[in-house]
Amino acid sequence: KLSKRLERVASFVPKDAVVADIGSDHAYLPAWLYLNNKITRAIAGEVVEGPFNSAKSLVASLGLEDKISVRLADGLEVLSKEDNVTAITICGMGGSLIRDILSRGKHKGHLVGTERLILQPNVGEPTLRRWLQQEGYEILLEDILEEDQKIYEIIVAEKTGNKTDYDDKTLFFGPFLLKNHDEIFIKKWQYQLEKYHYILSSMEQATHVEPNKLIEVKEKISWIEEVM
Ligand code: SAM
Repeated sequence: KLSKRLERVASFVPKDAVVADIGSDHAYLPAWLYLNNKITRAIAGEVVEGPFNSAKSLVASLGLEDKISVRLADGLEVLSKEDNVTAITICGMGGSLIRDILSRGKHKGHLVGTERLILQPNVGEPTLRRWLQQEGYEILLEDILEEDQKIYEIIVAEKTGNKTDYDDKTLFFGPFLLKNHDEIFIKKWQYQLEKYHYILSSMEQATHVEPNKLIEVKEKISWIEEVM
């Protein structure tokens, strides 16, 4: 059984896709996708030996070696042109790490631009959204969910040819999450607001604070208060 988080990610993988799951750990996601007839084949990429071996043994125990190729390398370097990947999932990492993986993949020619990206950053979502927008990706949809007292965001993007011009505030909250404004979104930002207030009061008590930092925190507080 898949976690609620990864099951939600799986729901955004198009039918009959060829998926690359980068940072696959146990390869739970690609295995589940294949066993549920959602995809034709997959590549599970890992950069660390331990998780790579876990992925290998899970795939072997399911007899899926010819459907899920488990590979050891950094980021998108596990891919080659012949793989003809149509969707890339990168989940459970920070947004800036996901951005770096995509950016390196682009520069090395492993990210073609035709793939659907299904990303689940744990933190640093704005950084990732900004990169997507700069690179000409259109955010097609976003989702937010809660599991085991943690709140997760999912971002689905494609190079559709449509350019977006979201401002910093929209990139901060996420264009679709901001519009939908659901219960979990409010819960997340209520908690974040408390966190920012705490940061602000520690700053106000500190002897030396960088003025820019202070302005930044105050700006975030006013943004959050505006949308609540
Ligand atoms: N994707 C799974 C999930 O969402 O449950 C596993 C998440 S786990 C917290 C992050 C995984 O990403 C780790 O197994 C780590 O080894 C892997 N990872 C980190 N940086 C990576 C990179 N540059 N390339 C490939 N895998 C990476």
